[in-house]
Amino acid sequence: MDSSLPGPPDAPITAKKLVETEGTEAALAEFGAWCLKEARGDGYAGDIDGGSVQSKALELGLLIEREVTEPCSEVSCVCAEAGDFPATCLFLAPGIE
Ligand SMILES: [Zn+2]
Repeated sequence: MDSSLPGPPDAPITAKKLVETEGTEAALAEFGAWCLKEARGDGYAGDIDGGSVQSKALELGLLIEREVTEPCSEVSCVCAEAGDFPATCLFLAPGIE
């Protein structure tokens, strides 16, 4: 582990630190590895639960929660469908297109 990071040397790196220090590509690589392991957890090809994917992306800082006071987009979005503002909406982290 990089000794220049704050905290105990054996502390696990947080998702936010992973994105800040290693970059979005490192977080995406970890996300990809997680998806592969999740899909093949029992040794067979399987599906990945969408809620689990979202939780992992949030944990890795690849999705960001943001409070919105109106629909965040002209296109359909879950916050617009709910129609109850302010609401928390999810956005892709900068650098992900
Ligand atoms: Zn939205």
